Amino acid sequence: MAGSLRSLISEDQLQARIRELGLQIRADHPNETLTLIAVLKGSFMFLADLARAIPGDVRIEFLGVASYHGGTRSSGAVQITQDLRGSIEGHACVVVEDIIDTGLTMDYLMRMLEVRGPRSLKIATLLDKPSNREIEVRVDYVGYAIPDEFVVGYGLDLGELYRNLPYVAVYSP
Ligand code: 5GP
Repeated sequence: MAGSLRSLISEDQLQARIRELGLQIRADHPNETLTLIAVLKGSFMFLADLARAIPGDVRIEFLGVASYHGGTRSSGAVQITQDLRGSIEGHACVVVEDIIDTGLTMDYLMRMLEVRGPRSLKIATLLDKPSNREIEVRVDYVGYAIPDEFVVGYGLDLGELYRNLPYVAVYSP
């Protein structure tokens, strides 16, 4: 795909921050079995590294969501492409997201998950673009806050490409 990539967060920086987040999440939930709810597809790589950074018992659930439909602007409409397989009633849950931009997707997901009766429900996002928020979201764990630029890599795509980059890059058309 035409366009240029500029590295924003290196592989080493990502891994170091994720190790910290994993320990922090466990410290906040001592002795609890944690259910990580990965928001697909973008969070698959973050999930894999974060899960390994959390000591103790962890369950994994996947939630398929489509919001961008291949472009670089959010449509605001959230489509559930794959629901959770198991119940989260009574579980200590952490929603694992790649990036929070306007907040519309996460606001929708939190309302959808809260009614299922989890014991606790927290949000971990690898990246946060706070300057672009349209709706307030209570984010518990943030990897890196970034400026309002379109990023790809480490799970994040443009038209399904670039997810396999081991680092996060700014994409310029
Ligand atoms: P929001 O609903 O918060 O505006 O957007 C959340 C979703 O939009 C993310 O899960 C992600 O799929 C997509 N998104 C937001 N910003 C970016 C970006 O800079 N790059 C990519 N690849 N996706 C983004």
